[in-house]
Amino acid sequence: MLRSCLCLCLLGLVQAADLTDPLWLDRLRPALTAAGEQDLARVPQAARGELDLDLDPALPGLRGTMTLHWTNPGPDAVPDVLLNCWPNARAFGGASLTLSEVRLDGVPTEPLSEGGGERMRLRLPQPLPAGGSVVITAKLSAITSATGYHGLMTRSPDGVWVFSAFTPEVSVRIAGAWREDPLAGMADALRTRTAHWLLRLRVPSAAAVAGPGSELERRDLGDGRSEVVLAAPLVRNLCVIVGEGLVQTKRDVDGVQLRMWHRPVVALAAARSIDACAAAMRRCSAAFGAYPWREFDAVEAPLEGGVGGVEASGVVLIGRDLCEMVGELDPSVPPIGLTARMLVEASAHETCHQWWHLIVGSDTMLHPWLDESLTNWAGEWVMEGEYGAVIGPVWSMSVFTAMAERQRPRQALTLPAGAYDELAYGAVVYGRGALMYQRLRSQLGEAKFLAALREWTDTHRFGWAEPVDWQAWLDRHATPELAAEIRTKWLAGEALTPQDLTGASNKP
Ligand SMILES: [Zn+2]
Repeated sequence: MLRSCLCLCLLGLVQAADLTDPLWLDRLRPALTAAGEQDLARVPQAARGELDLDLDPALPGLRGTMTLHWTNPGPDAVPDVLLNCWPNARAFGGASLTLSEVRLDGVPTEPLSEGGGERMRLRLPQPLPAGGSVVITAKLSAITSATGYHGLMTRSPDGVWVFSAFTPEVSVRIAGAWREDPLAGMADALRTRTAHWLLRLRVPSAAAVAGPGSELERRDLGDGRSEVVLAAPLVRNLCVIVGEGLVQTKRDVDGVQLRMWHRPVVALAAARSIDACAAAMRRCSAAFGAYPWREFDAVEAPLEGGVGGVEASGVVLIGRDLCEMVGELDPSVPPIGLTARMLVEASAHETCHQWWHLIVGSDTMLHPWLDESLTNWAGEWVMEGEYGAVIGPVWSMSVFTAMAERQRPRQALTLPAGAYDELAYGAVVYGRGALMYQRLRSQLGEAKFLAALREWTDTHRFGWAEPVDWQAWLDRHATPELAAEIRTKWLAGEALTPQDLTGASNKP
C-alpha cells in the first residue's frame, strides 16, 4: 500500500517536471506562425496540459487521462481551483464530463461538484500564491449525447464525432473571485484563459481528425486504429472532430493552411465556405493582427437548433444544413441568394471569432456583446470588402436583425446572455451591436476606426478583456459627445430610433 502510494506521488512529480521543462513547449512550436511564436511571450504563465485519450464507441465518447500544470496568474493567492465542466450543463442534452482519481501534485483529492457538475472545485491544502503552480491529474470520460449543445458533444448517424468543451478548463478569476455563472442563453460554453495542450488521440485509422493547432504525428497501431498527436498551443477551448468519409478542400493565406473537412456530396458549398474563411482570415490578419497558427480547420458539422456555425481556437464548425441548402451552386457566383449568403456570412463570422473571443478573451456568458457584436460587425465588413454592392446593401442584414425588437421595450446591449430570449439576443447583440460599430466607423472615419480596433486587439491579444476595458477604449478613441451617444443609445438602448439603425447602416 505504502509502496503504491509512493509510486503515485513520484509519478505526479515526474509529470510536473515534464510540463515545466522549456523543451515541452518546443514540441508545440511547429503549430505556430512567426506571430504565434512571439505571442508565447505574452502568456508566460499559461497552463500546460496533456491529454491521452481513446475514442470509445461503446461509451460513446472519449476516455483517458489528463495532466494539467496550472500557474496562478494572480494577483491574489487562491484557496481552490475552479474547473468548468461544460458538458455536464443541462443545455448539453445529457452529454457528460466525468473526472475520477483526481490528484493535486500527486495527492488524491475529492472534487466538490457544483451546479449539477457544471463546476468542480478542487480545494488546495494551502492557498496557492500568485505565480505558484499545481499539477492536476485525473482520469476523464467525455460522453456524447443525441443532441448535445447545438450539436456539440454529439455523433452523427454517419459517424462524425464533434467533441467540444470535452476537457475541464480552469475558470477565470476576476477581482479575487472565480467566475461561476452557469451556461445560459445562446452563449458559447467557454470561460478560460489561454493554455497550451498536447493531445494524443487513438481513433479509427480511416478517420480524419480536425482540431486546434497541427497534427505532429500519426502512427498506425496495427489494430484498425491510429494514434494521432496534436500540438495545440495558445488555445482557449478545445474542439476536436473525428470523422470517416470526410475529404478536404484546401486554401492558403500568407502561409497559413486552411482546410475544410466535408462530405464529398457538398464539395461546391465547401469550396464557397472555405473561400469565405480565407477572405476573413486575410482581411482580419491584415487589419487586426496576424493569425497565430499555421493551420486552420473548418468542418462541415451536424449542428443543431438553427445554429449556422460555432467557433473554437483554430477550428470552426459550419452547419451541414447550410452546406446542403446551397447545393450545387457554382462557388464562383457571388452569394446573392439567401442560402449562399447565409453560408458565406457564417463562414466569415466564425473565422472572425478567432480574433474575438479566442485571441482577445472575454466572458461569453456574462458579456456576450464584447465578442459577439464586434465579430458580427467584422463578418459583415468582410462581406462588404469582398462583394460590395454586388450582393446589395451589406448592412441591411444587420438592420433587419436589429429591427426584430422594435415591438418590445429595448434591452441594454450589455446584459448577460441569459437575460435575452433568442429573438432579442439576435436583435440586440448581433444586430444593434454590429451597427454600433458601424456608427463608430462613420463618425471616426475609416482609418481612425480601424486603428482603434487594432489597438483594442493588440492591447488584449491573448489576454482577457472586461467591459471596463471597453469603456476606457471608447474614451480613448471617441469624442465625449460620441462616447455619450454610444453609451446612451447603443449600449443602454435609450431613445434609439429606427432611423438611428438605418442611418448607421449607410456606408461611410
Ligand atoms: Zn458568433
